[in-house]
Amino acid sequence: MAKLLMGKEVSARIKAELKTEVENLKKEGINPGLAVIIVGEDPASQVYVRNKERACEECGIYSEKYALPAETTQEELLKLIDELNNKSSISGILVQLPVPKHIDEKTIINAIAPNKDVDAFHPVNVGKIMVGNYDFVPCTPAGVMELIKESGIDVSGKECVIVGRSNIVGKPMAMLLLHENGTVTITHSRTKNLAEITRDADILVAAVGKPKFVTGDMVKEGAVVIDVGINRDEEGKLCGDVDFDQVKDKVGMITPVPGGVGPMTITMLMEQTYQAALRSLKG
Ligand code: NDP
Repeated sequence: MAKLLMGKEVSARIKAELKTEVENLKKEGINPGLAVIIVGEDPASQVYVRNKERACEECGIYSEKYALPAETTQEELLKLIDELNNKSSISGILVQLPVPKHIDEKTIINAIAPNKDVDAFHPVNVGKIMVGNYDFVPCTPAGVMELIKESGIDVSGKECVIVGRSNIVGKPMAMLLLHENGTVTITHSRTKNLAEITRDADILVAAVGKPKFVTGDMVKEGAVVIDVGINRDEEGKLCGDVDFDQVKDKVGMITPVPGGVGPMTITMLMEQTYQAALRSLKG
């Protein structure tokens, strides 16, 4: 049986450390604050937002939640973001995606001040990640890197394969692994002979959004498998993008779903909110 990379435990430890750091920062007169905006009633988004609020409480981070009705116009949302960009008690702004269809996601992301963009979706922050000189990193890839570090694995020279090329997970994940000197391959829905490529991976990151997509024949013996997916199986049970039961006895390490990457994502959001506040202290 593979060693489980328990994000739940790692994130509990990081949050406890962060709580102390936040307390120390408050003594310097800086109170980290996160504003979370949610537009509409999407149930999954509501759960994510609630979890973010709870994590803020755990870490002693001040939070403001803006729950806006689904009919909110783009102009109204932009106005709120502008106010938050200029609000000194707020160090980080997060707009829970997806936003309703009548609102242009790119316009919203571009409106968030880059120095408060704790999700690192703004093109300025995306560009900084590309050149390897960044303040913010998208929370999920950041969490994955923490877990890889925890596992004691040196990425340098390793074959890293990512399944999925989204702006939120796949692409930034590739850049972070590249910065750690991994040999990185990004695969996607047009990739030919996917299993041949994934079988070469020392580190395989699955971010596909399809339940149990990565099967036992797609992984190498002893590989590290990071499962980013959050899906429901045919019985409605939470599952990842990796077929855990098929893979677990073949690979060396694997993140479970739930309890693997998921908790790390929120913890990284807390970390980045703290870092944003810290930078404001340093000017
Ligand atoms: P997207 O839907 O944005 O991207 C999915 C990617 O998978 C696309 O690049 C797509 O390729 C690729 N893909 C789809 N089908 C195949 C296939 N048959 N073969 C190879 N590649 C394929 O998803 P996200 O990146 O946003 O999320 C991925 C998963 O991670 C989801 O389950 C999501 O719920 C989860 N997630 C979990 C988080 C966490 O905190 N743990 C945070 C964010 C996401 P193409 O580009 O060609 O269409």
